[in-house]
Amino acid sequence: MNLSFNVLDETAAGGRRAQLVLPHQTVETPVFMPVGTAGTVKGVSQDVLESLGAQIILGNTYHLYLRPGHEAIRRMGGLHRFISWPQAMLTDSGGFQVYSLAKLRKVSEEGVHFRSHLDGSSHFFTPEHAMDVQIALGADIAMAFDECTEYPADRERARESLQLTMSWAQRSLDHFRAHRNEVVWHEEYGRTQSLFGIVQGGVYGDLRRECAERLVEMEFDGYAIGGLSVGEPREVTLEVIANLLPLLPKDRPRYVMGVGYPDEIEQYARMGVDMMDCVIPTRAARHGLLFTSEGRMNIKNKQYAEDLSPPDPSCDCMVCRRYSRAYLRHLMQAKEPLGGTLNSIHNLAFYLRIMRRVGAELRAGAVDVTTQSAQASPTSQ
Ligand SMILES: [Zn+2]
Repeated sequence: MNLSFNVLDETAAGGRRAQLVLPHQTVETPVFMPVGTAGTVKGVSQDVLESLGAQIILGNTYHLYLRPGHEAIRRMGGLHRFISWPQAMLTDSGGFQVYSLAKLRKVSEEGVHFRSHLDGSSHFFTPEHAMDVQIALGADIAMAFDECTEYPADRERARESLQLTMSWAQRSLDHFRAHRNEVVWHEEYGRTQSLFGIVQGGVYGDLRRECAERLVEMEFDGYAIGGLSVGEPREVTLEVIANLLPLLPKDRPRYVMGVGYPDEIEQYARMGVDMMDCVIPTRAARHGLLFTSEGRMNIKNKQYAEDLSPPDPSCDCMVCRRYSRAYLRHLMQAKEPLGGTLNSIHNLAFYLRIMRRVGAELRAGAVDVTTQSAQASPTSQ
């Protein structure tokens, strides 16, 4: 195996704490993974991410494929070396970005034709090609190429999309198995990348189940739940996750993609989700929204103009220890890039701390997980 996953503690409600051993890093789960879209977690340098305790970050295959190009990254020793991030990384399949960013996309059984959102140039992604790109990038974890079903989608459309995802999952896996040892750091580490399958199926429980069972038969290294947080009500997201978790193998990592707000990641971690990623903490930060122990705070509000207190008095991050609400507000008003950076650092610190706290609570096993998750809110501590 190229990863090992050791469950250390479990609770009656299904929450678990584990060690995910990857070639570049042993990751303590549950873990939140900051999103480094184009080889950078926007506005936050790698040394700061390390000091915040980030263990694994994401890279976006679509963005890196278009610029600077996966072959260029391979020639430079892979993504870890190129961006100077020696710890763990995961690349997405490119599917989601193709669907959300690319222009004039055309999907067929074979793959997806699309035009770059950067220069309109024409590209064709197949599951095999998506694997080649991710092997060139060389993250510890690669993702199967899938079609993210839009919301809302009627049953027929969801089924059609699901068939494509399942067929592409098998093709991704076959190609990945044949080529995974071509990753540039294979010799150095003696191990190589892992591949996760992605469960789709929209909001339809039976389609989700069918997809999960099919993917488990294929034996991926880990399993992700995709196609969530695309506009569906939150109760639906929760229901899809709750129904799927028991269907996924207990000895493999489970990853819910693209969620969520602080109370959501806490809730899902307590239910037994091991890995999550989301752009919310950094995207919200660039718009002046801070997540704090007292709830959400729009730092641009006039009430903070001369407020010299720390952004979050209960936070010990490098921003809250040093700067005031008034200064952060001023930076946003003046459109200074440091504003988005400092806000992002605080929000990431807040997210990462939630996961450490939940991990510690799962370890102690002293919490009534069911009650806590039902009542969790952004302000709960
Ligand atoms: Zn802070």
